[in-house]
Amino acid sequence: MQATTQLLHSIPVDAQTGAIAVPIYQTSTFVQEAPGVNKGFDYSRTNNPTRQELEKIIAQLEKGTVAAAFSSGLAAIDAVIKLLESGDEILAVNDIYGGAFRLFEKVYKKFGITVTYVDMSDLTAVHRAISLKTKLIWLETPTNPTLKVADIRAIADIAERYKLLFAVDNTFASPVYQQPLTLGADIVVHSATKFIGGHSDVIAGLIIAKDPEIGKQIKFYQNACGAVLGPFDSFLLIRGLETLHLRVQQHTRSATQVAQFLQKHAAVEEVFYPGFGGVVSFRLKQDSESAASIFVQSTQLFHLAESLGGVKSLISHPVSMTHKSIDPEKRKAAGITDGLIRLSVGLEDAADLVNDLEDAFQQITQNKKASGLLKKEAGLVSI
Ligand SMILES: *Cc1c(COP(=O)(O)O)cnc(C)c1O
Repeated sequence: MQATTQLLHSIPVDAQTGAIAVPIYQTSTFVQEAPGVNKGFDYSRTNNPTRQELEKIIAQLEKGTVAAAFSSGLAAIDAVIKLLESGDEILAVNDIYGGAFRLFEKVYKKFGITVTYVDMSDLTAVHRAISLKTKLIWLETPTNPTLKVADIRAIADIAERYKLLFAVDNTFASPVYQQPLTLGADIVVHSATKFIGGHSDVIAGLIIAKDPEIGKQIKFYQNACGAVLGPFDSFLLIRGLETLHLRVQQHTRSATQVAQFLQKHAAVEEVFYPGFGGVVSFRLKQDSESAASIFVQSTQLFHLAESLGGVKSLISHPVSMTHKSIDPEKRKAAGITDGLIRLSVGLEDAADLVNDLEDAFQQITQNKKASGLLKKEAGLVSI
């Protein structure tokens, strides 16, 4: 059976009523017949029927045994780090999601957990960076915003050899393109805010574990720390999952057309696109913050906003938005220069999106001409 069919039919028909959509159990508590005697649910932080359905569906889709849904992608990352102890070290991908970097550096450092950052597309560097204290490898692939790809299976082999936990943030690829647990990872994390939710209307995170014992620990932290996903938001993710394959395939088709257009454009220096997914980044020939700033304010269909993976196209300028807090030297070393622009290609018609970008290119060219004229005029005045 194809993955799409399997996914759609892993969403159950409600046994009690025949409802074809998963009911939203908007309740905090459950009535008990006697103390401790209940129908499998006692309190919605611990377990809720709508959230439980979502967790079952995503566990199947990512080929894991246990899943847990959280109130944000960062809350999910946070729960994984809670598996560690003071004195442990994380080996993390160097162009890591900014929020994960902040969590590691500003929260977990003070609890004695240290992090080493390494380019995970370089396996020798990964080997070399492992110390006696290393407990967890943290990978994102493709990375943000330069979409660098790492070999999950090769890193899983390294993790196995040194008996390390291996977690993959699978937000950018989505389970449609990659299922890290089948390639040797122990844990998958999603910011379901992005492709899984898919409509820019929910903040949510997911963890999927391969081993039931690790899954049990994650579930413990989900309940003990309490950053759970509510019933309505769980419903929204289930609804998003129903069209995940369809949406992601279309995102890819349109993003490919956009990437091809950019590749040929005279005003573009470099295009970053791994060949799948809805995110495309590119560097302007005019590698300046002013040109990029004019560009991102000139599009009509691409809305200027952070985030990605939704039905509507978004445009962002990493240097002044998502990656602002990163040290400029480090930023540059990671290829995030002033003229870098990131697109989340949505589900509008691809030709319309290309036209919208072409109009924005016209704006920066006109502006360049105008500023050239101004300089000439200023020169005349000074003479
Ligand atoms: C957005 C994002 C996160 C954080 O998720 P939130 O739902 O915003 O908390 C984590 N990892 C990646 C790769 C992301 O893009």
